[in-house]
Amino acid sequence: MPGTTAGGVPEAVPLSVIQEAEGFSNGEASAEALKTTPESLNCKECRSVSKSPRCCGGCWQVWYCSRAHQVAAWPKHQRECKPFKISQNAEMGRFLVATRDISLGELLLEDPVLTMGPKTITEAVCLACYRPVDGSFSCPDCGFPMCDRDCSSAEAHVPECKAVQDSGIKVKVSVFGEINCMYECIMPVRILALRDSSPNVWRKLMGLESNAEQRESTEVAAITQRTVVDIIHNRLCLEYSEELINQILGIIDTNAFEIRLPDSSIMGVYATGSLLEHSCIPNTHRTFDADLNLVVRAAFDIKRGQHLMSCYTESISTTATRQEHLLTSKFFTCKCVRCLDPTELGTFTSAMICPSCTKNKPKVAKKTDKKKGEKSTGKEEEVDLTTYGVVVPKDPSSPSSPWECLTCKSPLDADYVTRMTSVMTEEAEELENSNQSVKNCEAFLDKWSSMYHQNHAVLLNIKYALVHLYGSEKGYTLHDMSPVELLRKESIARQILKVADIICPVFYKACSMFQSGIIPNEMAKKLAQEAYECLLECAKVLSFEPPVQPEGQLGIEAKEELRNMIKWIKEEGWRG
Ligand SMILES: [Zn+2]
Ligand SMILES: [Zn+2]
Ligand SMILES: [Zn+2]
Ligand SMILES: [Zn+2]
Ligand SMILES: [Zn+2]
Ligand SMILES: [Zn+2]
Repeated sequence: MPGTTAGGVPEAVPLSVIQEAEGFSNGEASAEALKTTPESLNCKECRSVSKSPRCCGGCWQVWYCSRAHQVAAWPKHQRECKPFKISQNAEMGRFLVATRDISLGELLLEDPVLTMGPKTITEAVCLACYRPVDGSFSCPDCGFPMCDRDCSSAEAHVPECKAVQDSGIKVKVSVFGEINCMYECIMPVRILALRDSSPNVWRKLMGLESNAEQRESTEVAAITQRTVVDIIHNRLCLEYSEELINQILGIIDTNAFEIRLPDSSIMGVYATGSLLEHSCIPNTHRTFDADLNLVVRAAFDIKRGQHLMSCYTESISTTATRQEHLLTSKFFTCKCVRCLDPTELGTFTSAMICPSCTKNKPKVAKKTDKKKGEKSTGKEEEVDLTTYGVVVPKDPSSPSSPWECLTCKSPLDADYVTRMTSVMTEEAEELENSNQSVKNCEAFLDKWSSMYHQNHAVLLNIKYALVHLYGSEKGYTLHDMSPVELLRKESIARQILKVADIICPVFYKACSMFQSGIIPNEMAKKLAQEAYECLLECAKVLSFEPPVQPEGQLGIEAKEELRNMIKWIKEEGWRG
């Protein structure tokens, strides 16, 4: 926290500073102009009016008559002191707004989990520790396969265990190691049980957005009618209304976060975390600590007044893929700057290559004598190689929008783009599930690179895999690779980073930077300084990550790598 003093109490901020941040010059503004009632400037501790009120520097939201009263109030205020507030409007419902400037990496939120359970689509897992199970032990009371006695008597398992016991018939699970739809009703049953067992948590959950209306007519709703609503009514004989069960299913779909554990993935619902707005270029980064609290940090510097945003879909994917996922699973259409920009902020992660004009693509940008501000004469115009022959949708917000070449304006049919892209996507999936090797990945890129932009999400994901394979696959270890192959590895890694720089939170970037192995680049000693600084940055950024999360493990590795590098630098005599 900026300006935190001894004892952890934030600095006191004078009224004039806040007024200036609001755009008023010193002394000009009154409490009224700050859109607040005069009383709200009263001391939170003694309610008295002060001529020079001071604001808590942690949240910029509460006022004190003196430093002494701020310090006295701190133990109480500490828990609610956050650099953001909850706002609300008709269009968006509730959302989070920064109440002061926030710097990159700053901790915004540690949100305790309201409820958690197995993912909607999951294989058979233990209902206490969520490790995959094989059926060798079953809960003696309900029949669900678990690890052992300790797990079957765990508190978390009580709701579904009791519901099954009350129904009088034990569960028989016979499908292991593949998707098992019996687990779809666990989370809803757990939430329903909270109505009586924890009215407080129940109220918080019921206050969350369910998108019930939008969800009603979807395929998802039709499926859960059979796998959840019917099971709760007919198998478990619980008398909850269909409407309530559907509201809960909507709350889960809309708000649950996926939590990655070492052996499986589960989901959890969080009260404040749910209010993070979606964006395909989020300004926050989320992770989970060992107690599964949701931990949210600033992924960029955030200005006072900006909304706090998180990405609820895969960020390295095409606009069409992101929109489809958000619409079918979260029931909304994204209107973020990236989605509304045909070039996706110059990343071209959905773009194709023009079949008409690329043959004539110049090798280098044509230099002209044209001076700045001079009228373009058409012929002499400088050729922009970064957008040359790139085909993008004219209106990315419409799935049926025609596509057009940015250079020669040749049209491409939206249907054609969709068909070709799904053929490529299927092939990429096949490649991922089979034998991903340097040879296969390069062949894939060879085949599709003439049709798709080098930053297309599908190509980028293959390149991400490839950058690991160069350096680890047998025959392609750092010692085996030829200089040409090493350069290839480095150039792919840089392509990925260029895109990550624009759309991914700094944490993701640090991960990919570290994993790609471009950092301890053994070949280019001249890159050592740059690499050292990158690695330092990675280690710093990843040090925020709890060790239980994959990113936290990377952080530990990055630190280790940093130590090796410092040793290497010393031995090589570099940097004096
Ligand atoms: Zn006071
Ligand atoms: Zn505060
Ligand atoms: Zn277990
Ligand atoms: Zn049980
Ligand atoms: Zn978007
Ligand atoms: Zn063209």
